[in-house]
Amino acid sequence: MRERVIIIGAGPVGLCLALALAREGIASVIIEALTAENFLDQVPRAGTNHPATLEMYDRIGLYERLEPRGLVAPLFQYWEREGQELVVEFDHALLRDVTKFPYVLQCERIKIVEEALAMAQENPLCEVLMGTEFTGFEQDADGVRAFAVHQDERIVLDGRYIVSAEGARSIVRKELGIEFEGFTYPDRTLNIEVAYDFKKHGYADRNYISDPVEWSNLFHWKGPPDRWRVHFPTGEHEDPDELSRPEALQGRLQRFLPRDQPYDIIGSNLYTVHQRVAQTFRKGRAILAGDSAHVNSPIGGMGLNSGVHDAFNLAEKLALIFRREAEASELDRYARQRRHIAVQHTQAQTIRNKKLLAEKDPAVRQKNKDDLRRTAEDPALALQFLLRTSLITSVREAAKID
Ligand SMILES: Cc1cc2nc3c(=O)[nH]c(=O)nc-3n(C[C@H](O)[C@H](O)[C@H](O)COP(=O)(O)OP(=O)(O)OC[C@H]3O[C@@H](n4cnc5c(N)ncnc54)[C@H](O)[C@@H]3O)c2cc1C
Repeated sequence: MRERVIIIGAGPVGLCLALALAREGIASVIIEALTAENFLDQVPRAGTNHPATLEMYDRIGLYERLEPRGLVAPLFQYWEREGQELVVEFDHALLRDVTKFPYVLQCERIKIVEEALAMAQENPLCEVLMGTEFTGFEQDADGVRAFAVHQDERIVLDGRYIVSAEGARSIVRKELGIEFEGFTYPDRTLNIEVAYDFKKHGYADRNYISDPVEWSNLFHWKGPPDRWRVHFPTGEHEDPDELSRPEALQGRLQRFLPRDQPYDIIGSNLYTVHQRVAQTFRKGRAILAGDSAHVNSPIGGMGLNSGVHDAFNLAEKLALIFRREAEASELDRYARQRRHIAVQHTQAQTIRNKKLLAEKDPAVRQKNKDDLRRTAEDPALALQFLLRTSLITSVREAAKID
């Protein structure tokens, strides 16, 4: 079984990689710790899928399964919390000559992995081992050997390459001694899920709300029942139990948008935000992709998207190698291209996004607003802006790197 790729993790990155490889006729085996019973119990996460990513889903037939489960959202807005001022609105329709998908699809990670897992399980070239915990691996000149545990039994799997799509805690990255360079924000982000129609107040499906004290993101998700996700910053030393008390959550929402009735809160979670990129994405036959290679703040919705872009870029290169049309060094190109994007685009942009929303200096805040308005009003600037936020620019730029 040397002629296959071993993929660790059935997250969006691992599953897209397996499906993209299968499209090229390449077999893979996916090792996933979660079982068929608890796979869908994962906490809510990513959900904004940008145009460049929708094009990739479309290539493997995933888009048509996701669209009915998500919201087609052409508009997004920037707001100022004080006075509930709509600063500016961008419309992806400006991209209609550039992409088949001039909108984002609001479709949560859990729905993506549910559909992609079903597709992988139906595909004879993808073997999926659920309930199997990857524990380590070794490699030599001819291939890789992965070790895992399934129902207390140790199993050994052979393959030609191993791809770590196991998320930020990647065992592969640690075993290879690859530094995860960057920093962790001291404050955490509180996510509250609420059933309330914010559109009544003029909000779009995606909103970035700036405030010097309590910035937020406000996103709409398809139900039933429809839900909205609101992100708030929290103090570095605030007690997690205190922050998550129902009255505390209600208080935050009421301060954000006062109502004479309580909000119907569906759930909440608190998470730590890291900005980190692995020093290299490849060592020999072991390759990092997605969160195991880079993690970032969710402001701008770039983590899942850029991970999926890694998967498609990598599948293309592995296909060339398996067909003997390229040397193994083609994988260094993958590493150069995708690491460049992780550092220069994803990290740089997400750090800027947070700074923009949380800016405290009134003069800088005013300048930010003026810049956003000037960009939205000028069609050429707006097009450049949307090409960047929709991640089309980063895919084009990566392709030019040798
Ligand atoms: C609150 C929140 C909101 C977000 N919003 C967005 C957004 O709007 N847009 C966006 O682009 N990104 C967003 N992100 C980031 C996004 O969720 C991640 O970037 C994305 O899920 C990474 O995909 P992945 O496949 O690399 O890893 P993961 O999704 O983490 O999947 C890893 C898989 O590997 C499995 N695994 C782990 N260890 C092992 C092991 N030892 N053995 C076997 N299996 C293992 C796990 O069970 C899991 O199934 C958000 C993140 C958070 C926390």
